[in-house]
Amino acid sequence: MNKSKVAWECNCGAIAYGKLPPAECLKCDSADSFIEADEDQLDELTGENLMNEIRSKSWGDDD
Ligand SMILES: [Zn+2]
Repeated sequence: MNKSKVAWECNCGAIAYGKLPPAECLKCDSADSFIEADEDQLDELTGENLMNEIRSKSWGDDD
């Protein structure tokens, strides 16, 4: 399998995907603060976030 994107995590907790980490964090404005994230951990974290996002979105869209 070809992995073209890597997950990056800022020390503030922001997650970004891409071949390279973002130059600076949109959330906390830190430069070079991203480290390559552990995907196993990420799945749990983003899974939770996604569930919340999907839930809030579907509430808004459906009504
Ligand atoms: Zn940050």
